[in-house]
Amino acid sequence: MTDPITSRAQVPSARRVVVKVGSSSVSGVNAGQIATLVDALAAAHARGTEVILVSSGAIATGMPYLRLDDRPSDLATQQAAAAVGQNVLIYRYQESLDRYGIVAGQVLLTAGDLENPTHRSNAQRAMERLLALRILPIVNENDTVATHEIRFGDNDRLAALVSQLIAADLLLLLSDVDALYTRPPQDAGAVKIENVAFEDQLGQIEFGGIGSTGVGTGGARTKVSAAKLAAASGTPVLLTSTDRVADALAGEHLGTWFAAGTISA
Ligand code: GLU
Repeated sequence: MTDPITSRAQVPSARRVVVKVGSSSVSGVNAGQIATLVDALAAAHARGTEVILVSSGAIATGMPYLRLDDRPSDLATQQAAAAVGQNVLIYRYQESLDRYGIVAGQVLLTAGDLENPTHRSNAQRAMERLLALRILPIVNENDTVATHEIRFGDNDRLAALVSQLIAADLLLLLSDVDALYTRPPQDAGAVKIENVAFEDQLGQIEFGGIGSTGVGTGGARTKVSAAKLAAASGTPVLLTSTDRVADALAGEHLGTWFAAGTISA
């Protein structure tokens, strides 16, 4: 048992880290960013850290294969796009991970897999085994069978629930913004929030719309609520932009740090 991680400087010694990346960072014109992300994950993996990637992007990656310019609004087409895109996405990750001799394991979850106690312990056991085998689990919602009623909501929340499931030492939430601001960062007077204490209700924040490219579902609001969820179960959260992932894992002072409320066993 290692000591809990309580600051950015301690990140390099984290034993188990969940990294969450959004659709717009790994699909479309940003598909090339997968290599940069993998470089950073491989560096952490090489020093013995157990790395779990929660990656969105199934639907966005599938869109061009279905000749869609915009994210589909109907469920059946979303499911079809995800079926095609998840496959391509994992292939791209594995191809990139091959440069480091790292093997990925695809883990697709539905909300019921983490709610029902039997399914939950099953998912937990599979994840623990993958990590013990030094495999890098790549998690996403099983979008091909998910329906609006039974969704996790968004992958920020899924990443928080996965962090809870495997008692992660850190959740690194990646976004297209470098940190949390008091209002949308392009607005005048937006101030960066460096640290969020566990009890802080963040009442001073004015939330804007969703992410910039329109292919994902998250935004500052979903990031904050996911960070609060993870922090409440003992996992501190660092929120920063995808292009800072290597610096974040190297312990640099960046982004927004959400202190954990309880210490996981
Ligand atoms: N699971 C969805 C996908 O891979 C994305 C959900 C989200 O962006 O939060 O396309």
